[in-house]
Amino acid sequence: MKQITLEWTEAGHKVTHKLVVQPTSQHPGIFKLGRNPDLCDLVFTEDNKISRLHAEIFFHSNQNRFYIRKLPEGLRPLIVDDKIISEGEVPLRQGSSILLGETEIKVVAIVVDPAYLLICPNPKCPNPDPRRAVDAKLKFCPWCGTFVAGGNTLYDSK
Ligand SMILES: [Zn+2]
Repeated sequence: MKQITLEWTEAGHKVTHKLVVQPTSQHPGIFKLGRNPDLCDLVFTEDNKISRLHAEIFFHSNQNRFYIRKLPEGLRPLIVDDKIISEGEVPLRQGSSILLGETEIKVVAIVVDPAYLLICPNPKCPNPDPRRAVDAKLKFCPWCGTFVAGGNTLYDSK
């Protein structure tokens, strides 16, 4: 599962929106932010300092995390955690603040399962997961210290 939950205030009301990466959609994991309802997944009509097409949040499958970048159509800056982002992308984390026009968008939650899991080969491993699954980016099992790189890889299809 890969999803990011955003929260902002629009016309005095708190809005919560969850972006979920759908592996079957035509453009998996790319969400456009702006004022144009035909082009954007997240539409901000109340803030006229936001461009028609301002920024996009996307899921980077190699990095296994969410990023945001400003689109060339975005006339005003994109500010993430008090840094002005004019080119390139920046990773988002829980608690990040995105300033688009005069709207502050808070990243309230991010759920990303590890893309690949490894199985710890130690049968006495104290890992509470009965599969003894470990994030495949690790070299050593965090539960028992056994070397796991190169072990059985299990694709997590959640
Ligand atoms: Zn282990």
